[in-house]
Amino acid sequence: MSVRDELGNNCDWLVRLHLRSLGTPRVPEFTALRNAHSVYGQYGICIRFASGMSLPGGVDTGTQCLSLAAVDVGSCTMAQTMTTQQSALFGYGGRQGVGAQDILCYWVDQVVSDGGALAGCASHPSAQPACVVSALGSPWTLAHEVGHVLGLRHTTGSTMLMSTPTSSITARPPSISAADLATVRASRCCVRC
Ligand SMILES: [Zn+2]
Repeated sequence: MSVRDELGNNCDWLVRLHLRSLGTPRVPEFTALRNAHSVYGQYGICIRFASGMSLPGGVDTGTQCLSLAAVDVGSCTMAQTMTTQQSALFGYGGRQGVGAQDILCYWVDQVVSDGGALAGCASHPSAQPACVVSALGSPWTLAHEVGHVLGLRHTTGSTMLMSTPTSSITARPPSISAADLATVRASRCCVRC
């Protein structure tokens, strides 16, 4: 059975996103979502908007009021131990209605790593697929970070989704290589419909 996304793409594969906003992104959430539809939908992979929520930029952890406006993502690698802020963020807003194969995407004012500001970061607890997107990110940051959650690494070329920085991407929409598509389809977060 195939499904259809909001742009009319027919898909045999589905990726479910739950959007959580702690900041006001320069690129509106639904523009970023539409761009993600355009990237993945061209390969028969539909991005499904599963839920959306606006959240305050600070959270009471029980011992302190932690600001999540600027989120420290440490080294932003997949294997790292989560920072205090990542741990607080990925439990924030609860996981009601969020399946084990669903991806949570959080917009925050700033994403800060050991090396400076980032447009986004896909480092997450292994059992909780998630990514963080900066309010200063590009139109392609969401789709790019979701690509990382789906198992992709960086590539080169301004027409490619997984090139970096995404602000240099010139194609509308950018492409995903054949090898990367095989990786995406093998991800537990990419479900055959
Ligand atoms: Zn990246």
